[in-house]
Amino acid sequence: MPTNPQYNKKPAIIWLNVSVFLITFLVAIIGVPLYAYFQGFSSTTIIMAIVSLSFCELSITAGYHRLWSHKAYKANPVVRFVYAIGGAFAVQNSALHWCSDHRIHHQHVDDNDRDPYSAKRGFWYSHIGWMLREHQAHRYHDYKNVIDMQKDKIVMWQHKHYLTLTLLTNFGIPILFGLLVGELWGSILLVGFLRLVVSHHLTFFINSLAHMWGSQPYSDKNTAKDSVVMAVLTFGEGYHNFHHAFQYDYRNAIKWWQYDPTKWLIQILSLTGLANSLKRISEEKIAKAIATQELNKTKTKLIQLSLPNKEAIIENLQEEYEQLVIKLNAYYSAKKACLESKKDQMIQNVEKSKLKQHYNELKLSWSAQQQVWQNLVHQYA
Ligand SMILES: [Zn+2]
Ligand SMILES: [Zn+2]
Repeated sequence: MPTNPQYNKKPAIIWLNVSVFLITFLVAIIGVPLYAYFQGFSSTTIIMAIVSLSFCELSITAGYHRLWSHKAYKANPVVRFVYAIGGAFAVQNSALHWCSDHRIHHQHVDDNDRDPYSAKRGFWYSHIGWMLREHQAHRYHDYKNVIDMQKDKIVMWQHKHYLTLTLLTNFGIPILFGLLVGELWGSILLVGFLRLVVSHHLTFFINSLAHMWGSQPYSDKNTAKDSVVMAVLTFGEGYHNFHHAFQYDYRNAIKWWQYDPTKWLIQILSLTGLANSLKRISEEKIAKAIATQELNKTKTKLIQLSLPNKEAIIENLQEEYEQLVIKLNAYYSAKKACLESKKDQMIQNVEKSKLKQHYNELKLSWSAQQQVWQNLVHQYA
């Protein structure tokens, strides 16, 4: 808990938020099991609840988060419209408001006074507590950090009609679907209430648990963590350490085998022409961040150990790190030259093969140095 006395002066309760969270939660945990026991849900309604949950989650992760907050790619108006509807269905405020909060989160991450959902104020606060009281009322209508978004007509339309859209989607979709399949109350409970509660808490985990559990392969300058469990729960947003280190990348998971359905959706949209200008951080920058983080972690561990030749080991570690960075830079500039030569028709084939040979040599030297580095780092892991 924060020790600063100013946190003891509790701001006013936001009764609307408290009521929405409490009522939906109570109906979901009491109503759903009772209905399941006495009546039973049909598989069609269960599938619809999963589809609706995915629609809400992906509208937040791919739309509110990666598209609008971080401008990690561009999307067709139809896609933006679908995200705007999904965002209202998810009841997470308008895209404009959500993104304004989120940009402040990145800019002042872990700053208890400025980060709207600072994880340093504990699990409850970062998960849901920040929305239950007027913690940052002074900047509630300040949208200066989202001026770019105000040029997007869909964003402004959604902002203006947010309440209507929220009511229409949250009552309209479950009721219409329920009437259509002849399971009105089942649909209201599952597609309406349970879907909303689950969707809320899965997103809230990104602000709470994704800043508490997991590893920090890219940076330890803030509390953001990478965790496969969180990634599964949050449609790929759980690689949050990578995300805070490289917020403009449209991916949160950079390896093909890592679970990031939000990234896959953006890739599919790009293949079908519905999205473009997907931003990716260069492999070189990522490799450098990993190496620097390993250097810092190992140094911190070595300082704590009582070794007789500690200083010499740290010096050696630093030298190997510098060698690694030199070889990494050389490898990536050779790779770039090689790729450019392929495009350039004027360069002779002999020249191209020389470049390729040089590239291969540097690749070998970079991987040999990586091996040395890994052995060294793992000795003290
Ligand atoms: Zn975060
Ligand atoms: Zn973000």
